[in-house]
Amino acid sequence: MALRFCPKCRSIMRPVKVQNRNVLRCVKCGYEEEANGASLTVKTTVERAPTATPIAIADSTQQLPKTRAICPKCGNEEAYYWIQQTRAADEPPTRFYKCTRCGFTWREYE
Ligand SMILES: [Zn+2]
Ligand SMILES: [Zn+2]
Repeated sequence: MALRFCPKCRSIMRPVKVQNRNVLRCVKCGYEEEANGASLTVKTTVERAPTATPIAIADSTQQLPKTRAICPKCGNEEAYYWIQQTRAADEPPTRFYKCTRCGFTWREYE
């Protein structure tokens, strides 16, 4: 059988049996389609909790706030910054900077 891809999220659809019918089900979002190609109205009755649909994780290239910080590499005085909790929970979160000009990234040293 030819591989089918979910029209919604383009994940692979797997053949499954639902109430004695052959159905293709998206492994990711749960979209169902009859194995013969006819599309089914998506049923809202769910026997089991659906696997949590992961919400698109915010892109790391999103706009970060800027602050005044001197880039140790090029001397630029403006940098993006973000705060990240280091592995040890008892340590204070570390502030990271990324130069708006050259892209150099460094962490704040006390
Ligand atoms: Zn899908
Ligand atoms: Zn720089």
